[in-house]
Amino acid sequence: MTRFRRWLGLLGLDEIRCSICLRPFSPMAQESGAEAGLPVCPACRPHFAPYPGARCPQCGFPFQGLSAPDGEAPSAVCGACLAERPPWRAFVYHGLYKGALRELILRFKFGGDLALARLFGAWLEDAARCLPVPNALLAMPQHPAHLRRRGFNQAHELARALHFATALPLRPDLLVRTRDSAPQATLNAKMRATNVRGVFGASPAVEGMRLWLIDDVMTTGNTLKEATRTLLTAGACEVCVLAVARTPRGQA
Ligand SMILES: [Zn+2]
Ligand SMILES: [Zn+2]
Repeated sequence: MTRFRRWLGLLGLDEIRCSICLRPFSPMAQESGAEAGLPVCPACRPHFAPYPGARCPQCGFPFQGLSAPDGEAPSAVCGACLAERPPWRAFVYHGLYKGALRELILRFKFGGDLALARLFGAWLEDAARCLPVPNALLAMPQHPAHLRRRGFNQAHELARALHFATALPLRPDLLVRTRDSAPQATLNAKMRATNVRGVFGASPAVEGMRLWLIDDVMTTGNTLKEATRTLLTAGACEVCVLAVARTPRGQA
């Protein structure tokens, strides 16, 4: 098989297109590490390294460039989380929602490039290594009307990719969106907080479960907080939130 693939490589037949720069490359050149075989060329990989800096352990707020907020230890909780602790046990993410990563997520979400889900799933798997193993995975649900407009739920595609990568059970039935709220992006921060109240419904099956709730991007976190609260109120034992990216602002 290896010999066969080497021949394919010599003939240029094993080339695939990089999901990011769209240039063809041979995946044989980089077959090592956790991201082996993923559709990203070696030249593009460094632009998508995980955010390495200090962050709030509760909401992930990046203390960019600062070794710590107000001279505190880098693991210090941000001001917003000190005032009101988020309902989830932990929040992990791959990178900051800006630059090349933002472009890539937009291509996934609005360009419908669903092949990227596998790459994002591998990043989520890496980001979640420090989390306790859950009983089930679920995605931030969309209202059926919204789903009809877009045709797919990007968060569910991510949850599916993580499910295939980890073999953890995927339970989209555990949380539903009962109200088609106005898109959060069209509202200011204050309106966002009230826009999402009571928009979710959780199944009684969440009783006693540890869950990983998956979304593409965390912005203010208000929708994720509401979803987490709904799951906990319905009896879930704990919820950890996973996202591909987090906006550099919001909270702190
Ligand atoms: Zn590339
Ligand atoms: Zn925080």
